[in-house]
Amino acid sequence: MGKSPFDLENQNENIDSRIVAAMERVSQAFRVLLWNQSKETSLSPIQIQILIFLMFHSEEKRKVSYLAEEFNMTKATISDSIKVLAQKRMISKKSEMHDTRSYVIYLTSKGLEVAKKIATFAGRMQTPINRLDLADKENLLMSLMDIIHYLNKTGVITIQRMCKTCVYFSPGSDTTHHFCRLLNQKLFDKDLRIDCPEHVLGTN
Ligand code: SF4
Repeated sequence: MGKSPFDLENQNENIDSRIVAAMERVSQAFRVLLWNQSKETSLSPIQIQILIFLMFHSEEKRKVSYLAEEFNMTKATISDSIKVLAQKRMISKKSEMHDTRSYVIYLTSKGLEVAKKIATFAGRMQTPINRLDLADKENLLMSLMDIIHYLNKTGVITIQRMCKTCVYFSPGSDTTHHFCRLLNQKLFDKDLRIDCPEHVLGTN
């Protein structure tokens, strides 16, 4: 069995373990901020995440099966949350022509109003990032993308819509820029997307 990154002796001797422990603290901060929002709105954390997701994503992604994959949850759990949001009159459903068991989810005007308010729940995470200089931001973004890419490839997290996994992405070498063949434009490190509406999963 490998050493735990939460074993303080190991952590203090090993920068990799300290980075894992630091990431755990950041994920804890997200949980706290989400819970604070949850208390204010009487919505569960997953209901909050669903409302925010619905506000920013297109129809083909606003379905129970997609949401289940997006949030790494079962369809039953997502369906329960959708039911509660419908009871609260924050969403409505429209059956699909080709399959009446499947439906697209829409925010109602009440749902949109709530989603706009809660979408800034992670605002305090942004303040320390705003203070970094551009080179540090680029390094941080590239490192996080590499970590997310690995976690996606090894099945820890499911759907990703970032450039590195996109069929249209041509990675540049160290000295050149990357390129998006769909948008037909250069992409520098700072331009790489983490959630692109045009993303099509490739074999990267
Ligand atoms: S389509 Fe979007 S995700 Fe794909 S390479 Fe272009 S910008 Fe990146």
